Amino acid sequence: MHPSTDTLPQLTLDARNRIASVNRAWVDATRCDGLRDQSLEVIDRTLADFVKGVQVRQLWEILLERVRAVGAPIFVPMRADTPGQRRVWDVEVHPLPERGVQLVAHCVWKEERPALALLDPAVPRGEESLPHCAWCNRIQIRIGAWEEVEDAQMTLRLDAAESLPALKQAVCDRCKQSLLKTFPARLA
Ligand SMILES: [Zn+2]
Repeated sequence: MHPSTDTLPQLTLDARNRIASVNRAWVDATRCDGLRDQSLEVIDRTLADFVKGVQVRQLWEILLERVRAVGAPIFVPMRADTPGQRRVWDVEVHPLPERGVQLVAHCVWKEERPALALLDPAVPRGEESLPHCAWCNRIQIRIGAWEEVEDAQMTLRLDAAESLPALKQAVCDRCKQSLLKTFPARLA
């Protein structure tokens, strides 16, 4: 195993997709506050507790099952932005014994930007909500039209808006199609 693997964000799931372990780097990198107050030893919460979007969860479940069925890893590229940073992660999904899986996040690219209020969970939200793709980070501004967060803010004139819409975890068609084509390579 690569010597620096220890410090990469990692999370393991058991056969029923309950969190078996998660390291500090994962909690910090994902800002997953739902996990922050939990013991880092055995957490025993399900995927559903931290992946709120139903479609997003279903796609992850499909991918996890493929990894288990084939017994080989996949890499899932995804945007993992923070308000002040654009980031691209390659999430490596490995099979473990007894149908467990391990997720290891490799940050392959990042870039600073002025912080975006729309991505800041601390900013209060109004009644409306916008679908936010969990993989490409784009926002659906109207049915079928997805834009980068910066562009969506301008198109929807959110800078001048009285309150910001909530973001709801979703998946755009482009990402859905590409994820459904992701299969582990069978080991020779
Ligand atoms: Zn997408």
